[in-house]
Amino acid sequence: MVGSGPNGLIGAVTLASAGLRVLLVEAAGTFGGGLRSAELTLPGRVHDLGATVMAMALASPAFRRLGPLPVEFTHPPVPAAHPLDDRPAVLVHRDAERTAQGLGRDGRAWLASVGATARAGFPLVETLLSPLSPPRAPLAAARFGALGALPATVLGRTLFRTVEGRAVLAGMAAHSVLDLRSPITAGYGLLLAATAHLVGWPLVRGGSQVLADALVERLRAAGGATVSGHRVRDLRELDAPVVLLDVTPRQLRSMADLPRGYRDRLGRYRYGPGVFKLDWALDGPVPWRDPAVAGAGTVHLGGTLEEIALAEAETVAGRHSPRPYVLLVQPYAADAGRGGHTLWGYCHVPNGSEVDMTGAIEAQIERYAPGFRDRVLARHTMTTSALERFDPNLVGGDIGGGAASLGQFFRRPVWSATPWRTPLPGVYLCSAATPPGGGAHGMGGLHAARLALSDLRSGRVRPNSRRQFSATA
Ligand SMILES: Cc1cc2nc3c(=O)[nH]c(=O)nc-3n(C[C@H](O)[C@H](O)[C@H](O)COP(=O)(O)OP(=O)(O)OC[C@H]3O[C@@H](n4cnc5c(N)ncnc54)[C@H](O)[C@@H]3O)c2cc1C
Repeated sequence: MVGSGPNGLIGAVTLASAGLRVLLVEAAGTFGGGLRSAELTLPGRVHDLGATVMAMALASPAFRRLGPLPVEFTHPPVPAAHPLDDRPAVLVHRDAERTAQGLGRDGRAWLASVGATARAGFPLVETLLSPLSPPRAPLAAARFGALGALPATVLGRTLFRTVEGRAVLAGMAAHSVLDLRSPITAGYGLLLAATAHLVGWPLVRGGSQVLADALVERLRAAGGATVSGHRVRDLRELDAPVVLLDVTPRQLRSMADLPRGYRDRLGRYRYGPGVFKLDWALDGPVPWRDPAVAGAGTVHLGGTLEEIALAEAETVAGRHSPRPYVLLVQPYAADAGRGGHTLWGYCHVPNGSEVDMTGAIEAQIERYAPGFRDRVLARHTMTTSALERFDPNLVGGDIGGGAASLGQFFRRPVWSATPWRTPLPGVYLCSAATPPGGGAHGMGGLHAARLALSDLRSGRVRPNSRRQFSATA
């Protein structure tokens, strides 16, 4: 097993639980990939380097099938808030009805779209996170698909009549890092918003690293061994009948002698925009103009649907928006145990950008929280190259393992009924560059591990074969 992000860890645990002897090799000094935490600003301040909001983990079959882990998920009073100029912020509560009440004239449309997605429950989530398996909830998936296939701009304008309804959908959909005029961006928005009602948007008490460590312990308890601080550069280093790779296509191309056709197909895989990330140590909470925003774990900044759509379109076109969409996370709203008020936020930037977006991001916060900058004790910034140094899977700063476009929803990283399997016998990709894509849900790891186990059972892969990392297919 190469790489210990959520997909790598779930893959390793699945294989070890099935009785395989597993060795997990991680390039970084700490396990967890996008689940790592560290003191980035001041001593004692715990910051998550990647994922904080565990909605996808809680909703994911890959995590739910593990049973209880020694991890406490802690919920902020409000999952998400979307401040607006000169009017109260939109609040997305755990309760769909309460959210709908806050949306006034758009309340009914919220319940019919986001509410219906949440009511379809785990079978629909499993269907969406297993896009190449027979659907567990075909009718709900068809209903979801009718709305979700649309661009967020189109669904926002047809479904909602208020500035608030449209803005909140745009804020959710912009997590996709796509142009919101593109197909399926509405689907990302609907699903994400629905998870707030289905499972909430909790954090891990003490930092996401606690979850990564719990998974590593689960692996060791199942007999797995682990090595950190070793970057695998050539698959010939490994000698095992089955190898799961928590890496993206660009890395695989540099690690192995691949058949030319497959190599070319991987070369056509597209990475999306990157992010510029800021972590702050504050001397108190963010001074929101609307105090209700203080209770939100996640805050979407960027204003109306039109503004957010413009900012995201500019990014996808290769420009830096002067008024970017900012995704802000306030861990202190749910977890007082991180050494004080820590905050992180990012905005989307063109892939590979080295532009420092501190000014633009902080201006968006000041827009809704005047006096914010006075609260800052220390900052830590990461450009796209800094992100890639911290995790080689963040190619050009792309935090989703590749563009989440319609084309790459199924062709991830290649067109195949089993895209986790590579042409090298016994070698599987399991990262966010495989279905169902980005997020701390571990489903790429589960799908790849299940495929490997089925290949072992069917004899397609022989359990005692020594790995020959050459192009044989
Ligand atoms: C700033 C940021 C915020 C995010 N926020 C959220 C959030 O709140 N909620 C959410 O659900 N998702 C969030 N995400 C996305 C989520 O973290 C990722 O989608 C997820 O971590 C992908 O998991 P993965 O296992 O595919 O890869 P990763 O988590 O990227 O892990 C890959 C691992 O493999 C290792 N590796 C790579 N190559 C090699 C090699 N050759 N040899 C050895 N080891 C190797 C890397 O060092 C890394 O540890 C965020 C991501 C970032 C960066």
